[in-house]
Amino acid sequence: MAASSSDIEKAAGVLRAGGLVAFPTETVYGLGANAEDPAAVARTFQAKGRPPTHPLIVHIGGAQHLDDWVEDVPGTARLLAERFWPGPLTLVLRRSRRVPLEATGGLETVAVRVPDHPVAGALLSAFGGGVTAPSANRFGSVSPTTADHVRTELGDAVDFVLDGGSCAVGVESTIVDVTGDTPSVLRPGGVTREDLEAVLGRPVTVPSASRVRVPGQHPSHYAPRARVVLVEPGNVLAEAEAAREQGHQVGVFLPPSFADASVKAHAVVAVPGSAAAYARGLYGFLRELDHRGCDLIIASLPVEEGLGLAIANRLRRAAGPRA
Ligand code: AMP
Ligand code: MG
Repeated sequence: MAASSSDIEKAAGVLRAGGLVAFPTETVYGLGANAEDPAAVARTFQAKGRPPTHPLIVHIGGAQHLDDWVEDVPGTARLLAERFWPGPLTLVLRRSRRVPLEATGGLETVAVRVPDHPVAGALLSAFGGGVTAPSANRFGSVSPTTADHVRTELGDAVDFVLDGGSCAVGVESTIVDVTGDTPSVLRPGGVTREDLEAVLGRPVTVPSASRVRVPGQHPSHYAPRARVVLVEPGNVLAEAEAAREQGHQVGVFLPPSFADASVKAHAVVAVPGSAAAYARGLYGFLRELDHRGCDLIIASLPVEEGLGLAIANRLRRAAGPRA
């Protein structure tokens, strides 16, 4: 059910009163708080079970508000904002004094983005200020891409949920640090590396899969309850069968090239051939296999270009060592 204009007004009121509002964006659902209210921001960390040193993204209504929240905006940041906002691109810049240290995990930089979703846009304009919003899930688990995911996972920890249907992009924003001489991608996401390079006219660096560089990004993140094991696409069927013989309730991410194969497994997800459809479905697939009682998920990585880079990043983290 889509949010009505009275829902938007109510949600803006909840934010003004220091409450938490979950709202849809084109990437995933966010858990919003008034960015200028340190107590409200602190409640976000409690609701998620997220360590308070992990910085949040401040969502603003348009690029015209950027200078209210940051200082020293370099030309590259203006260029990227102009080209990709509203959209799934987050820029890391020097914070202005308007941004409390609670929102940045104590850092002197702040991550800012303008979401591309009518409900998010309406909320930001009704509220008028900036809204910190991490993904509306428990820390480390799979991000929510529907309002039902949020309700199931956060329950009473969130004061109000705005429903805007399923998220169109399905994976989080691309985070680019533009505080240094060379822009660097801290997290691959909805804006592709190729799109960034086309606009900037030069190569951009992306994180290696193994190193933890962004504060708040741990090896295991975006993880379902089931253990995720990544294998070569050609080995998915054999590995799934072997795990089943060992007594596992196996869930399989069946690569598009094996779509016609018959699979002996507890549950099977046919991976879409288009990267956009795969990204849109990814978190829902992981949730579905949990829901169906799988204890092990066998998957392979897509080709790491375009949105495939973000999908592979999330699958690696889902498969990462657990605490
Ligand atoms: P989430 O809130 O789950 O969407 O994740 C937000 C991401 O933004 C995390 O990976 C943070 O580490 C990253 N982030 C937020 N602020 C900063 C910052 N100032 N510098 C670097 N990364 C940031
Ligand atoms: Mg998250």
